Amino acid sequence: MATDTRELSAAARARTAVRIHGLERSFGERKVLQGLELDIRAGEFVALLGRSGSGKSTLLRALAGLDHNVYGKGLLSAPANVSVVFQDARLLPWKRVLDNVLLGLTGSDGRERGRAALDEVGLADRESAWPVELSGGEQQRVSLARSLVREPELLLADEPFGALDALTRIRMHKLLRKLCAAHRPAVLLVTHDVDEAIELADRVAVLEEGRITADVPVELDGPRTHGSKEYAELRE
Ligand code: ADP
Ligand code: MG
Repeated sequence: MATDTRELSAAARARTAVRIHGLERSFGERKVLQGLELDIRAGEFVALLGRSGSGKSTLLRALAGLDHNVYGKGLLSAPANVSVVFQDARLLPWKRVLDNVLLGLTGSDGRERGRAALDEVGLADRESAWPVELSGGEQQRVSLARSLVREPELLLADEPFGALDALTRIRMHKLLRKLCAAHRPAVLLVTHDVDEAIELADRVAVLEEGRITADVPVELDGPRTHGSKEYAELRE
């Protein structure tokens, strides 16, 4: 993003957070990922588009270390410190908001960090609420706080705003941009929304027939201006 408030050093920016070369994943006879190539640099924000069933969630599961069947099959490197945000916030209903943020967090300053994270997502006054008392958008804010309090090197987001209304989604875009500028994780965001991809990402990749078939950098005066050629290509 060109509006970053925290610049990474040139050396850090050049570092590769994710390296995938020839990733394969099949379910029985069905080949889902077939020699997929994708690199993501530290602090880079990549949006991933692709039809339903094209393997986007399969790729994210592999990157999250949740799929033991891809080891040695093209996933060359991914950070150990990965956070995942799903379409549903997946909060534990029997834990209050702050305790959901703190899940599994270690260290004596945990509660302070959790509170700071809730403050960052605009929910400082809701730390004692139960998840059921929050709107869908607020629950997703808690989910973002829970992810970012761990300072992940890689943030994976699987259609995180797909279930939200249009206005809430726009607010969440603003929030995610702010959070990413502050924390600078590498991000891989799966979305169906081309405008969302262009709004948020440094690069937009398309997954098709098991491979990345397009990988387009987003320039402020490039595809973000809706008349450009790259934008038209992505909209096809
Ligand atoms: P996307 O997220 O792009 O919609 P998925 O990665 O969820 O797609 O799924 C890609 C394909 O892999 C689909 O055909 C899906 O049915 C299949 N698939 C995903 N997970 C499994 C699984 N655990 N067992 C069998 N098939 C699966
Ligand atoms: Mg999916």
